[in-house]
Amino acid sequence: MHELSLATSLVEQITVIMGNEGASTLHSITLSVGRFSGVEKEPFEFAFPLAAEGTPAENTRLIIEVTEMKVKCKACGKETVHDIPLAKCGKCGSLDVEIVSGREFKIKSMEVE
Ligand SMILES: [Zn+2]
Repeated sequence: MHELSLATSLVEQITVIMGNEGASTLHSITLSVGRFSGVEKEPFEFAFPLAAEGTPAENTRLIIEVTEMKVKCKACGKETVHDIPLAKCGKCGSLDVEIVSGREFKIKSMEVE
């Protein structure tokens, strides 16, 4: 299961961050997950508690924020949102774009103690 290995590596990251901060309890964690990151929200929500069992991330509130596919055009400067994973400006059609969101899988914030 793809989500379980992702959850396991996320828990490892969390453990390292908490160790660095000297924190022992993780109250909540917010993830920023792109709509086209390849990570499915529901399976991930199911996998996370399994991966977190016996770690400081156990019993944590997991919040997943799904982001839209958004690109910023370097030619015309406009930001456009797509329904498909398209790295192209929706305004002028330029392919010289920067992907703002939609493909990421990252920790947005953590509430620790
Ligand atoms: Zn453009």
